[in-house]
Amino acid sequence: MPAISLRGITCRFDGTTAVDDVTLDIEGGSLLFLLGPSGCGKTTLLRTIAGFHEPAAGRVLLGDRDITALPPERREAGMVFQGYALWPHMSVLENVAFGLEVRRVPVAERRRRALEALDLVHMADLAERRPGQLSGGQQQRVALARAIVFRPRVLLLDEPLSNLDAALRLEMRNLIRRIRDEVRMTTVYVTHDQSEALSLADAIAVMRQGRVVQRGTPQSLYRRPASRFVAEFMGRINLLPSTVLQAGPQGGTLRTAVGDLACDACSAPQGAAVLAGIRPESLRIVAEGPIRGLVRRSVYLGEMAQHEVETAAGTLLVLEQDPGRASRAGETLALQAARDAVIALTD
Ligand code: ATP
Repeated sequence: MPAISLRGITCRFDGTTAVDDVTLDIEGGSLLFLLGPSGCGKTTLLRTIAGFHEPAAGRVLLGDRDITALPPERREAGMVFQGYALWPHMSVLENVAFGLEVRRVPVAERRRRALEALDLVHMADLAERRPGQLSGGQQQRVALARAIVFRPRVLLLDEPLSNLDAALRLEMRNLIRRIRDEVRMTTVYVTHDQSEALSLADAIAVMRQGRVVQRGTPQSLYRRPASRFVAEFMGRINLLPSTVLQAGPQGGTLRTAVGDLACDACSAPQGAAVLAGIRPESLRIVAEGPIRGLVRRSVYLGEMAQHEVETAAGTLLVLEQDPGRASRAGETLALQAARDAVIALTD
């Protein structure tokens, strides 16, 4: 049985439908990401799980218990908000222990458990400080400790790394991964940052305009997006206008202006106009290849180079790993893509 089940959740604000008939199961102990552009309904859905928002329709189940009507404090869910929402007049320790006080845990145990949670996020040394005396990353870690201190059955994270700089974000990612491995708490994580989702998630639900449009593992969403929207949201991708020459679950052929491209699966019917999607790192530079083009611009990035290649099907972005030279501008390149790297996409 899933740890959390959402059944036909719909949320409205005045005239807007923020969440539109979402049904989703979240496995116990797993880390599910809600990923999507700003305004697609992620936060509203998370707040509905937490009990801060009452849905217009649908049910929230914790195990087999219907908790739709339960107030937040009775839901066994710990939440980390977008801002950290720490109490400035309390010490770090008091901030973390507060959730235990509300739950009437005895004083000595409160202290021990709060320190334990702070230890998990490497903040026990600063337990006596006030939030105002901490950096953004440190405050974020305290917010995390505060959410997990009462050992909730569910951890809800709303863009927990959005206020941090790139280095801290990486550090926090590692910390969240470690906590997840150690504590194995069912976690729902909201973000619009696909690299965060790809690097941490067990499963990702991509949302668009209040709906879940695709759910899968990081790899399946990246390599087998079901639509142009998901393909573009998960990372950079070249889209070549094409027509389906041959279709079927065993594979297909797409006709493009740079020749025919084989692909692994194509559900669109023969003759349909589709886009052949190829990620920049899947285009290989070869001595002889089906796709030919002129390099208009090269950017050298050390571990890779990024080339803009003008072809009959438009400008393609190519990522060359371990580049032997700084620039290929002016060169004519031959390119090829493996058939499992070509994705037939509809809008
Ligand atoms: P972001 O990444 O920007 O936080 P989001 O995907 O979390 O976006 P939500 O915050 O859930 O999106 O908002 C979904 C829709 O509901 C948006 O159109 C938003 O304007 C609207 N909305 C959210 N909260 C309210 C509110 N309290 N009153 C009115 N409309 C709201």
